[in-house]
Amino acid sequence: MPAARVLIDGPSELVFDYAIPEGLPVVAGCRVRIPLRNKTSQGTVLDIVEPPADLGFALRPLHSLSDPEPLITPNLLKAGRWIADYYGCSIESVIRALLPEAVRTEENSAKVRKTVVLHKDPDPEVLAKITKRAPKQAAILALLNHAADKKIPLADLGEGASASVKSLVKQELVLLVEEEVRRDPEADGIEEILPDSPLPLNDEQEVALEVILESIQAETKPPILLYGVTGSGKTEVYLQAARRTLDLGKTVLVLVPEISLTPQTVRRFRSRFADIQDQVAVLHSNLSQGERFDEWHRIRKGKARIVIGARSAVFAPLPDLGLILVDEEHENSYKQDQIPRYHGRDVAVLRASLEGCTIVLGSATPSLESFQNTIEGKYKLVRLMKRADGQSLPLIRILDMRLESKKHKGGMAILSDRLRTALEQRIAKNEQSILFLNRRGFARSLQCPSCGHACMCPHCSVALTYHREDERLMCHICGHQAVVPRKCPECRDPAIALQGFGTQKVEEVLAKVLPKAKIARIDADAMRKKNALRDLLNAFQARKIDVLVGTQMIAKGLHFPNVTLVGILNADIGLHVPDFRAGERTFQLMTQVAGRAGRGDLEGEVIVQTFTPHSPSIQFARHHDFDGFAEQELEFRRQFEFPPFAHCAVLTSRSTHERRAEFTLQTLHRRLSEDLPPGISLGEPLPSPLVRSHGQFRFQLMLRCAKARVLTRHVQQVLQKTTLPEDVTVVFDMDAWSFT
Ligand code: ADP
Ligand code: ZN
Repeated sequence: MPAARVLIDGPSELVFDYAIPEGLPVVAGCRVRIPLRNKTSQGTVLDIVEPPADLGFALRPLHSLSDPEPLITPNLLKAGRWIADYYGCSIESVIRALLPEAVRTEENSAKVRKTVVLHKDPDPEVLAKITKRAPKQAAILALLNHAADKKIPLADLGEGASASVKSLVKQELVLLVEEEVRRDPEADGIEEILPDSPLPLNDEQEVALEVILESIQAETKPPILLYGVTGSGKTEVYLQAARRTLDLGKTVLVLVPEISLTPQTVRRFRSRFADIQDQVAVLHSNLSQGERFDEWHRIRKGKARIVIGARSAVFAPLPDLGLILVDEEHENSYKQDQIPRYHGRDVAVLRASLEGCTIVLGSATPSLESFQNTIEGKYKLVRLMKRADGQSLPLIRILDMRLESKKHKGGMAILSDRLRTALEQRIAKNEQSILFLNRRGFARSLQCPSCGHACMCPHCSVALTYHREDERLMCHICGHQAVVPRKCPECRDPAIALQGFGTQKVEEVLAKVLPKAKIARIDADAMRKKNALRDLLNAFQARKIDVLVGTQMIAKGLHFPNVTLVGILNADIGLHVPDFRAGERTFQLMTQVAGRAGRGDLEGEVIVQTFTPHSPSIQFARHHDFDGFAEQELEFRRQFEFPPFAHCAVLTSRSTHERRAEFTLQTLHRRLSEDLPPGISLGEPLPSPLVRSHGQFRFQLMLRCAKARVLTRHVQQVLQKTTLPEDVTVVFDMDAWSFT
């Protein structure tokens, strides 16, 4: 007798086997009610298993199915297994990500309301009789006759209508039914949706659309990388491809880095599909549980046929998936920083292959992982090299801050004279500006303000990190250590010092320098409040703000025609973090940010402040040269064995107890090095760049291997054999995107 292996709901990830009662169609992915101790609980069937013959006791039978159909489709269950295996996490943790809490808990259920439906039109004589004897009933019939779909919620008929309705039901003229109502997240009608129609495509867009449509019909469907410069009209291509997919009777999944940060993209989808508004589902993070429940079931039943959402929407249970679009595929917000630590884009690629559907990864600055896949022929590359509005890409000016600091005599210059003048000009002309603060990493590198020299690791080509506690420089990849130089090794200036200034300091300076300007800052608070960010962006759109200051978070997909100046205050900070993607991120930031300028009829100007004007990522970005950048950067990655040529994972230990965290990681390091499978390179255990965070001490080591599975398996085996001290947490992050 096969049994059901059930993951019990609740925080403890309990898994038990239950006998399946005769005739109950239980398959993997079903939700079931089961006996647990002396209560009834719910759970998800992970697998159908054959219990060993010598089990020695009878399994308890499960009670019933909570839902007639499996809530997790076989393909999603397969994806779940792959994630557990690849990222080295439990299938239980993946199931939690797959089935949102709102869908799992029994408290949530569909909201129903009583609705009166016209059943048959009465004969004229009958109607005449009713009109005479029961005018109330006649009025209800008249209302129903004029209502959409000939039905009206009972509650809308007003108090005292029940008796009349009852009588009409008796006469079989109307029916009283329970109708499911959708808790519509947009029902409060905050945003007006203006329908729009497709634009005639230019030649490049035409080719891109053609490639996507061909793929939808093709037998094999390699992922498509749509590399299109900022403003080249990628979104228009997505919109038209999505429409054609829907016309073919299939469904569409659109992933964006973060809903609240891409309001304009979401709005364009809503507008384009305004005619089928009720088939569009936007999965915000601030949906209520009830709304989430309804949207999830609408998607599963095929009522919502186009779904827009961030990372976790990759698990949206769309049937008949025809097309997955991943916008801004290079964005690091696709990587989840909690268990399960999956990468939304990579899971999307996997899902597309399981579902046999087309997937398009779009970006103006493709990740080197995806780009390398096109070079190896695994992905297909399509390019959009011109701006759709015919404008040229904006001119990028690089400002050498070493010269500025000389003017400021030893102090750090925050705002160059050049940028200040440019800001003043914009304010005088009533044009708008955006200033970016690159705030990546609190990890401090050592950089000379007079010559720009940064202290780098000789073995890994990443910046060394300054550790104040013991006054040394350290490489976070190989463990190389160096003393802090008293003078700059390059120009002998003793001013070599810690760099970095916070957003607050910048705001202070700006307020002082531009007393008349209206300045607004997008900060973490603005991101958290439900509508604060949208209000702020709307105010900026309405030109009520002159200067918008923010981190790279606001570099995504914003389109403001009146913005003619974009400045980056500190392009270097991102460059000198102990992260092999530092150069790539700086290139992406500069390119994306520059893409915000000059998107209307007015020409745009971009000013980049930097201490290392000659650094390759800055120079390639300045010349809008992605290919040049990719070629050089891939060479460096190949040489130092970094992604995309190897998988890179980080193992971190954390504890409030410093010694125990350190000792645990050293123990793990020793065990990992015993029987180390060939091909894995094991880094040294080191304090994290951010050694103390939230009161916990953190230590980390990096592992690299060309084969992901070999790496994950080895680490999992060691972790399973190691008993951790109670107050130490160990985290394994496969394909890590953050090294702090
Ligand atoms: P991307 O997504 O590549 O940044 P968008 O799709 O936002 O580019 O397009 C940039 C601008 O060009 C938008 O204002 C868009 O309406 C416009 N646009 C896109 N395609 C066309 C086209 N074929 N003809 C005219 N304008 C277009
Ligand atoms: Zn090193």
